[in-house]
Amino acid sequence: MHTVRVNLGPRSYDICLSTAEMSGFGPFVRSTVPKASTALVITDTNVQHHATVVAQALQQAGIRTGIAVAPAGEASKSMIQTDALYDQLADLPADRSTLVVAVGGGVIGDLAGFVAATYNRGMPLLMVPTTLLAMVDSSVGGKVGINHPKGKNLIGAFHQPAAVWVETEFLQTLPDREYRSGLAEVVKYGVIFDPDFFAFLEEQASNILTRWPDYIEHIVARSCYLKASVVEQDEREETGLRAMLNYGHTFGHAFETIGGYGTWLHGEAVAAGMACASRLAELRKLLPPHVTQRQVLLLEKFGLPTAPKPEWPVEQLLEVMRRDKKAQGGKLRFVLPTRLGHVELMGDIPERSVREALQPCP
Ligand code: NAD
Repeated sequence: MHTVRVNLGPRSYDICLSTAEMSGFGPFVRSTVPKASTALVITDTNVQHHATVVAQALQQAGIRTGIAVAPAGEASKSMIQTDALYDQLADLPADRSTLVVAVGGGVIGDLAGFVAATYNRGMPLLMVPTTLLAMVDSSVGGKVGINHPKGKNLIGAFHQPAAVWVETEFLQTLPDREYRSGLAEVVKYGVIFDPDFFAFLEEQASNILTRWPDYIEHIVARSCYLKASVVEQDEREETGLRAMLNYGHTFGHAFETIGGYGTWLHGEAVAAGMACASRLAELRKLLPPHVTQRQVLLLEKFGLPTAPKPEWPVEQLLEVMRRDKKAQGGKLRFVLPTRLGHVELMGDIPERSVREALQPCP
C-alpha cells in the first residue's frame, strides 16, 4: 500500500492508497481512530453500493455503523442536508469519538466534513473519496463547507481529516466525463509544480484514460503528495502558497458562472481556464508559446475544453473575474505560469490582454 503523509503537527494524517478492495481498511481505521466505537457513513445515491462495502468493513472492525444517504449533486451542500445529518447523528447517538465517514465525491466530502467540523464542536473525519477530483484535491487539505444562496462554499471551516482512504477500485464505476474532469486537476499539479510529472502525463495519456490501476495509483499519489506539500506550508491560506493551486480557476470560475452551474463540470472549466491563463502569460511575454501548446495538446487528449464557448459574452466573463477574491480594487490578478513547473500571482493585468487570452489558440 502506498501512503502519503500530510505533516501538520498534531493534525497530521495519512492518505492511504489501496488497490486491494478494502482489505486492511478495518485494522487501519482501528489504529487511526482507536477510540471510535460508532460511525456514521455519509454518502450519495450514486455511490451507495461503495458506502455499503465501507460500512460492512467498519462493522467487521467492531464499530457500530449507520449510513446516511444524501441526493447526488451540488444541491446537497445545503443547510437542509446539514440539519438532516445532525438529526441522524443525534439519533445514533453520536459523541465526540463517533467517526464521520465521507464516501463520495467532493460534494459529500465537503458536506460530511462540515458536519464533522461543527457537530459536538468537532468530530473525527475519515475521507473515502470516490471521484478522481476528490482523490487528488478536495479530500486533502481540510477545507470543508456548504453553499449559501448568495454564493458557493460561503459557509465552511478548516477541519483536517483523521485519515484519507483512497480505494482506486471505486473509480471503475465513475462516469467517463467525471473521470476526465478530474484529470484537469492532475494536469494542473504538473504545470504548477512538477514538469517531470507533466511529461509522464503526456507519455502515458492513453494508459491513464483506460484507468489502468497502476497509472491511477501513480497519478493520485503524486497529486496528493504535491497538494500535501502545499497544505503543510500554508494550511489556512495565509502565506499565498495555497493560492497557487488556483491556477486556471479565475477563468474557470467565470466559465462556470456564465455558462450556468452544471453546463461544464468543474474540471472542464478549470481545463479551459488553464489554457486561457497560459495564453495570458504568453501574451504578457512571461512564457514561451510551446508551454501553452503542450498544455492544450494534453488537455485535448484528455477530451477537455481549452477555450470558453464562443456564445459566452466576454464582457460578462470579465465582470465575474473583477469580483474574484484575488482581484484587488477591481484590478485583475491571476496565477500565471512563467515556466513549466512554476506559477506566480501576477497583478495589474490589462483587460485587453485578458480579452485576447479568451480567444481560442490559432
Ligand atoms: P460530486 O461529488 O458531485 O461527484 C460527481 C458525480 O459523480 C456525482 O453525481 C456523484 O454521485 C458521482 N459519483 C461519485 N463517485 C462515483 C463513483 N465512484 N461511481 C459512480 N458515480 C460516482 O463532484 P466532484 O467533482 O467529486 O466534487 C465537486 C465538489 O467538490 C464541488 O462542490 C466543489 O466545490 C468541491 N471541491 C472542494 C474542494 C475542497 O478543497 N474542499 C476542492 C475542489 C472541489
